[in-house]
Amino acid sequence: MELDSGEVLQALTELGCPTLFHANTVLTSCSCLWANRLLSRNAVEEKGLPQTPQISDDQDKKLGLYDDVFLDFADLHVSFKRANKYGPVLFEFSAQHVLSSLPIGVWITKSNPVHWRSAKKQEWFRSVDEFRGSYNRFVPGPCLVLRGYGDQLPLNTSSDGDGQSCCGLLDRIRIDSPSRLCSSTVDLASFAFGAIRLAALRGSAQVQRVGPRMCASDSGCQCVGEYDDMPEIELRKRFWIPGE
Ligand SMILES: [Zn+2]
Repeated sequence: MELDSGEVLQALTELGCPTLFHANTVLTSCSCLWANRLLSRNAVEEKGLPQTPQISDDQDKKLGLYDDVFLDFADLHVSFKRANKYGPVLFEFSAQHVLSSLPIGVWITKSNPVHWRSAKKQEWFRSVDEFRGSYNRFVPGPCLVLRGYGDQLPLNTSSDGDGQSCCGLLDRIRIDSPSRLCSSTVDLASFAFGAIRLAALRGSAQVQRVGPRMCASDSGCQCVGEYDDMPEIELRKRFWIPGE
């Protein structure tokens, strides 16, 4: 059910959620930066840009979600003390800037669509009050969906129309930075940081803050062990390291 963007913003303010998040692989994140848009899976494809395949792609097409743009209400890496399964790059948006700029209403899932087995089992909040009453950042599932929004969400908007004064919707990019080498030579963190900075430059994305997420081994975050034990093929997929 479509919800009023202004009412959702009010609820997020009350819930103490000023930021919206989007996690992805280094490759797909670079495609968004090149386009200076947060792109749906379908929009990336239509623009002929590369993206990392996701296990849910076929199901998303069947459920009519493939052209939707997804945002989380919390930094899931922090909430669940583990690497985000969608990738090591996290875009952070001002909820106020995004929601107040939208010409459309928004939808909110009750659970991750990867668990929806058929269109008959889609689970959406039916009112802002229902969402407000049940939201807990430590319970996975809810995410904000801009339905059929394709390539319409800019990472930056020009406030005066001449491109000189930019108002950034994208506040910050954080990149997981495990201290691990791929094939004994490629430093994952340095490679990812360089690729993201270059993509932002090429796409003219005004990203003021790009920084690493460094979880110490005594931080209690499972990402440290996850990255240490991760097969190289999975590391290459997440960090866009070319194959040998
Ligand atoms: Zn961590």
